Order: sequence, then structure tokens, then C-alpha cells
Amino acid sequence: MKIQENISLRRYNTFGIDKKARLFLEANRSDEVIQAISHARSLGKKLFVLGGGSNILLVQDIDALVIKINIQGIEKIEEDADSLLLKAGAGVVWHDLVTFSLASGLSGLENLSLIPGTVGAAPMQNIGAYGVEIESVFDHLDAIEIASRQTKRFYKADCAFGYRESIFKNRWKGKYIITHVALRLSKKPRPTIDYGDIQGTLQELGNLSPTPENISKAVISIRQRKLPDPAKIGNAGSFFKNPTVPVAAFERLRNKFPGIPGYPLDKSVKIPAAWLIEQAGWKGKRFGNIGVHEHQPLVLVNHGNGEGSDLIDLSKKIQADIYDKYGITLEREVNLISPQQWINP
Ligand code: NAP
Repeated sequence: MKIQENISLRRYNTFGIDKKARLFLEANRSDEVIQAISHARSLGKKLFVLGGGSNILLVQDIDALVIKINIQGIEKIEEDADSLLLKAGAGVVWHDLVTFSLASGLSGLENLSLIPGTVGAAPMQNIGAYGVEIESVFDHLDAIEIASRQTKRFYKADCAFGYRESIFKNRWKGKYIITHVALRLSKKPRPTIDYGDIQGTLQELGNLSPTPENISKAVISIRQRKLPDPAKIGNAGSFFKNPTVPVAAFERLRNKFPGIPGYPLDKSVKIPAAWLIEQAGWKGKRFGNIGVHEHQPLVLVNHGNGEGSDLIDLSKKIQADIYDKYGITLEREVNLISPQQWINP
């Protein structure tokens, strides 16, 4: 394991923010993660765990040992008549796992095509899109407990999955490093297409039948139309969460703003944050090096050489404006990386 000092993290975060790591290493295996924890402890340094860097905003240098989780490999570990259990390293790019599953004739991940980030980060926030969440195919994950440096296995019931939530984001935040994730995928197609524009896109693409491959194509097409490619323009996907409000509050909003969209979620209503931000006039606005994306106003962008602090300032202005206009508080989805996120090993 090679430890580098004072390296730029620009290529390790999709916003392309140029902040430094005091110490940095890439862990390619579970035992290297364990060694890295011991090393940080012996140096008296804190730890920061980095996956794909697609959901973080750096505002300052990281004075810690940054461990980039780079554990690769996808294995078929168990098979029965209906399903196959795939196990992937936490450093595998999420969409590569989706592609592998489709090439293996498996169904379950097609709606989750092209979600940025790595396999290890996926269960953390129970990634979901177009009516499917990872929870629906999740079997187990292996993780190293930082305090004991022991590997532990967690099944679905242990993970407290919710809407973009899991126990690893809440009660056990900073306690475990996920090394492998195992998903049970179906050998028979299980299409979920009654959501958003999937059916319309299948038709547009040439009246395609809803096979897993074609659903994946439709999802990729929708996402590419709307979302900026971080290789071309720095961004971390949705900057804000979609807010939920009580049903009565939604009715009051609808009386005032008849076009407002809303989707029932438990006893509340989920409102697309993109609609609020667009209606408030922020879509496509540019402020020097940073701005709001021209097609998807939920995405803030770095046009090049933007600073994390500029993005924070812009996000605060948007939050204040949305609160003034609609009485809704937008919460950040992107993780702001501050010393509170550095872990004591
Ligand atoms: P979108 O499709 O424009 O939808 C915006 C919001 O409206 C989302 O909260 C979505 O719920 C909801 N919605 C839309 N159609 C719905 C329907 N038929 N039934 C119930 N709820 C509906 O969202 P987007 O921002 O472009 O994102 C596309 C998809 O990627 C969404 O499913 C979104 O959740 C997902 N996404 C996931 C992550 C993540 O896993 N961290 C990050 C960004 C986006 P849902 O959120 O329940 O879909």
C-alpha cells in the first residue's frame, strides 16, 4: 500500500473541486482496509473514507488519512432455479455491476442504470430510481467495524432501509467500512415500468418490449437527456433532496400553486424539488464559475475552478428563496465534507 502526501482530490470528486488530502491511499482488498485503519491509529490521524466521490462537496483540505475504497471483482456465489446471488467489491462502479447483471441475463438492477457512485456506497443510502430501490434485491453486505477491525456481515433486516436511508447513514455512521455487497437477482424478468417516463421512452426508442436490457436503455436515455456528465461538467447529481410535506400542507400549496406536482409517500406528499427550483427562476442561471444546470435545476454545477464555498453560498440562496416562496425547507442531499466527517479510528 502506497501512502501519498498532500495530493489533490480533484480527480476523486465528481464536482472536480481542488482540495487536498494530507495522506491518501487506495485499498484494493479488505485486509488493506484493516491495515489502513491500524496505520491511521498509529499516526494519530483521523480517517476519511472515499468511494466514487459522486455525492460529496469539499470545502477544505482533509487533514486525515483518506482511504479510497478500490476493492474490485464481481462473483456469482450462489444459484437456484429462480435467482442468482452476485457479490461485488465496494469499489466496483455501480453501473458496471448493472451492466454485468444484464449481460448475465439477470433482472433487478435495470431501473438503477447509470446511478453514479460505487457499489459500496449504494446500500448506505438505499439508492433508488424509477420505482426500484436496492433494498428490493439486497441480500447482505460485509463491512469492517472500525473500532474492532473485525469483518461483520449484515442482512437486509439489519440495515433499517428507508427512502434513501439506512442504518449506516444514521445510527452507525462512521462505524463501518463496507467492503462487499451481495444482491439476489432474478433469472426471470421482473419489469417495473409504471413509473415516470419509462413506457413513453420505450416507445420513443422504437416500440421496445420491456426486457431488462430495454428498460435499462430507456433509463439511460432519460438520465442522459436530463443530467450533466461529470466528465464534462463538474456536478454531484441532485444537490437537494425531494422534500415531503404533510397532506394538509400540500393541499394548501396546491390551492396557491395549482400546477404543483406531488406524489404520496406514507402519510405525506413528496414534491419534486426540481419543480420548485425551476418555478423560482433558478434553472440554467450561472454565477461565475458555478451555476444551476440548464436541464435539471436540482443539479448545481462547477463550470471549472469553482470552489466548494461558492456552491454552498449558492445553495443557501436557493434554499432561502424556496422557503420564502413556498414555506418549504430544502435539505442538502450532497454531503458537505467537514472535520465532523473525519473518523477517529
Ligand atoms: P424525477 O423523475 O423528476 O422525480 C422527481 C421526484 O418526483 C422524485 O422524488 C420522484 O420520486 C417523484 N416521482 C416522479 N414520478 C413519480 C411516480 N410516478 N411515482 C412516485 N413518485 C414519483 O426525479 P429525478 O431527480 O430526475 O431523478 C430520477 C430518479 O432517480 C428518481 O427516481 C430519483 O429518486 C432517482 N435518484 C436517486 C438518487 C439516489 O438514489 N441517491 C439520487 C438522485 C435521483 P422517487 O425519488 O421516489 O423516485
